[in-house]
Amino acid sequence: MLKPGATIGILGGGQLARMLALAAARLGLRCHVFAPEKDSCAFQVTPLSTRAPYEDERALMRFAASVDVITYEFENVPAKTAALLAARKPVLPDPTVLEITQDRLIEKNFIAELGIPTAPYAPVHSASQLAAAIGKVGLPAVLKTRQFGYDGKGQAKIAKAGDPAAAWRSLREQPCILEGFIDFEREVSMVAARSADGKVECFDVTENEHRDGILKISRVPAKVSEPVAAEARRIATRIAKAFGYVGVLAVEMFVVKSGRARTLLVNEIAPRVHNSGHWTIDGATVSQFEQHIRAIAGLPLAKPLRLGRVEMTNLIGAEVNEAAQWLTVPGASLHLYGKGEARPGRKMAHVTRVWPAR
Ligand code: AMP
Repeated sequence: MLKPGATIGILGGGQLARMLALAAARLGLRCHVFAPEKDSCAFQVTPLSTRAPYEDERALMRFAASVDVITYEFENVPAKTAALLAARKPVLPDPTVLEITQDRLIEKNFIAELGIPTAPYAPVHSASQLAAAIGKVGLPAVLKTRQFGYDGKGQAKIAKAGDPAAAWRSLREQPCILEGFIDFEREVSMVAARSADGKVECFDVTENEHRDGILKISRVPAKVSEPVAAEARRIATRIAKAFGYVGVLAVEMFVVKSGRARTLLVNEIAPRVHNSGHWTIDGATVSQFEQHIRAIAGLPLAKPLRLGRVEMTNLIGAEVNEAAQWLTVPGASLHLYGKGEARPGRKMAHVTRVWPAR
């Protein structure tokens, strides 16, 4: 168990690291943020920071020497970086989780082996395999690069009468997986924490609305029945246990209607705090960030209680120019990430609105 004054190392310096560091500070813990980008917005809120490439071994060694435990805010931490650090200090969640979640094919195989349903999928590593994959999965479908996809990047939809070869070329013929296109009723996510002693605490199922492949609005409670919510909790718990996971993870799922029944298909696992859990800062008695810090620090997890109906809206790109208007809206909380340039598609801030339960 980390004592007050101990230091947590965080790889990555974006808004997730920033909100993790703020939560750690409330528990009397310091953070040391390691990130290559000069304007990393997490640097603004931590006493310790290192700006260096993830390949800089000397900087990594100094970083490891200065912290008690290491975590990360993104899943694309290079394997060599994680291994080098793990030889010196505990890295949580364990880096084996990264090997699985960095690659959509390995991740889907892992989920399928647990007996958890996903969209139908098949690997695509060559033009000839593309035809075979379409034979297996059918059309319409979504072609996704196995690695480095986020916010809808590295994806191409192939319509029923579409041009599969053009989609494959548009992704620069990188190793891909083809997924059947799911005509889902809604998208939901389950954010859950697991402690080293195996306890799991789930937040309420969150309903997510995307625009242009980027999360725009999260709403809680999600419009799902209690059996579906229980199934979402079961799936997240099963995945966390299979990983021997320590920390917060998010599982993105599609709710699919079949007659009167609803089933869940897992789309993706994020081995970290997640945008669809930001509502927990203002809308629950404990935030996903604090839960993650508690888990990796060996502190007891909290039982999260939701405070009412909650809606979280991302302010993306130039939308941040209207941020100040939220300051006077009753029940609204504004979180500005302290980023410089408001480039299109860049997550600049979020607003959470809470309608308290009476
Ligand atoms: P991902 O990067 O896999 O999270 O995908 C981003 C978004 O694309 C998802 O949140 C969905 O809205 C959509 N999407 C991804 N995969 C599929 C699929 N197999 N069928 C339908 N929509 C999808």
